[in-house]
Amino acid sequence: MKLNNKQENEVNKICCPKCKSKSFIKWTKRKTENRGLIQRYKCKECNKTFTHDDGFFRMRNHPNKITLCLDLFYRGVSTRKVQEHLQAFYPHNSSNKTIYKWVVKYSEMIGEFTDKIKVSGGSEVQLDEMEYHRREEHKKQGVSKDWFIDSIDVKTRYMVSSKYFKSRGQDELKEVMAKVKYKTEGYITTITTDGYTAYGKVIKQTWGYNNKIGKYNISHNKKIASKGEGFNIYVERMHNSIRERTVTFRGFHGRIESAQAIMKGYEIFYNFIRKHQAINCCPYELATDIKLENPNKWLELIGMSKN
Ligand SMILES: [Zn+2]
Repeated sequence: MKLNNKQENEVNKICCPKCKSKSFIKWTKRKTENRGLIQRYKCKECNKTFTHDDGFFRMRNHPNKITLCLDLFYRGVSTRKVQEHLQAFYPHNSSNKTIYKWVVKYSEMIGEFTDKIKVSGGSEVQLDEMEYHRREEHKKQGVSKDWFIDSIDVKTRYMVSSKYFKSRGQDELKEVMAKVKYKTEGYITTITTDGYTAYGKVIKQTWGYNNKIGKYNISHNKKIASKGEGFNIYVERMHNSIRERTVTFRGFHGRIESAQAIMKGYEIFYNFIRKHQAINCCPYELATDIKLENPNKWLELIGMSKN
């Protein structure tokens, strides 16, 4: 059988899970209720039979249905409304809790992949924080005041690094900053923040002092709104987009890890899925080497995360 390019690429990614051999033959096909026929392979080295995990291993629902829910959710439709939509169009219904679980699972999966992508952007990154309220798992614990710390590459509008935290102390800022440094190595010369005092020390520590030139390796551009210096316009605009979308979340509830995953998913949506008005494309197209060909970009990103 002659394979086309796309099929060939698919096969090239597969290897035996036991001995990692790439020498295998097509074996049987297993019929699944919701995902059609799944190809089994047999390893020629160790005789193990296996299927290829495309990210939807052991899921009872079709990848299209799952990614459709992710897409609607990040476009601002609540899980309850997504559930009502499913009820009308799919015979096998899903609860809004299941949809919430899918959002968390696949945001984490794609996030592990996108967190490693290097960014070739401009010379300035803006960093800021937004406050969020989260209802704790047990009602008695009340409401936790959390923070989303994020950063944007001014030239490409790519959200470089972000994370949802319980507070915004030095450790939290350090974590986001370290990722900015890792991803933008060799590109940025300036970090812009507001007047929050914790930034200065963390920025200096992260980039370090250069003895040769007798200066810090990065310049810290501190904008203090109260002094009439204006706002950090790019990061502020991004916050407006985030608020617009996350208003339907109606505040977070439950575990901090779920809120973290959901905001990671928003970062993915912002960089890879949603067309940015100002640049007329998605930020990833300007900032990274990633090429996405499938119109269902969620599906393609999930596939990439599993390889
Ligand atoms: Zn094997």
